[in-house]
Amino acid sequence: MRKSDHRLDKTISCPVCGNTDINYYVKKDDYSFDNCNNCEFIFLNPMPNQTTLNKIYTDEDTKINGGYKKASSRLRRAFIKLPRFLPYVFNKSSLDFGCGGGFVAYALSFIAKSSTGVDINQKAVAYAKKKFNGVNFYCKDFHNLLKSKERYDFIHSSEIIEHVSDVNLYMNALSHLVNSKGYVYVTTPDLGHPKVPKDITKWDVLCPPIHVQHFTKKTVTILFKRYGFNIIKFYKNKKPGLVFLSRKL
Ligand SMILES: [Zn+2]
Repeated sequence: MRKSDHRLDKTISCPVCGNTDINYYVKKDDYSFDNCNNCEFIFLNPMPNQTTLNKIYTDEDTKINGGYKKASSRLRRAFIKLPRFLPYVFNKSSLDFGCGGGFVAYALSFIAKSSTGVDINQKAVAYAKKKFNGVNFYCKDFHNLLKSKERYDFIHSSEIIEHVSDVNLYMNALSHLVNSKGYVYVTTPDLGHPKVPKDITKWDVLCPPIHVQHFTKKTVTILFKRYGFNIIKFYKNKKPGLVFLSRKL
């Protein structure tokens, strides 16, 4: 049963948990979010399709033409994170899923047996290929990735899941690409963090249609379990961001 007149499309169940107890949540910049009362998932309704979202990122492409801003600090931050990844990546195959300009994939290449970066953004991948040696960079979408025969022991996917139109397609791709017993490290904004403003519209991270959905610990736990992942660790974060490591069963 529909609970709200605000719901515009025909989706009547939560994309994360399948529950039908969905309510109108909030509106920002003419975009309307719903929330699932069961798993706390917050998502745009109607949800723009991936083609529409990709067009919005064309602006990002234009910026990349002149190179990434703060490229050296991006690279430094990528290297600073390596000790965290070392136990799961050392001498293993790694993939940065949504690699952008390739900073993390390049840093991972120093500890992994092999390092790959994949992104939907052609200009980002072209930039990464030109800038970094020793990494396999590919421009592929979810459908291409689902046909891939490559499997990875470790997948890094930072600040991607909140952008994708179809969260189940994203999870299918992750699940397809990771080796059995492999690790997946994900970061995304944390809607359940105490530092998130009470008036959610004041939160600059709530920025539709750049971010089309939001998660809490509960949401990602339910979502990843559905795809055969066990979340083995949530990292402490003073900022409102979820940072977690999961393992494929
Ligand atoms: Zn749900």
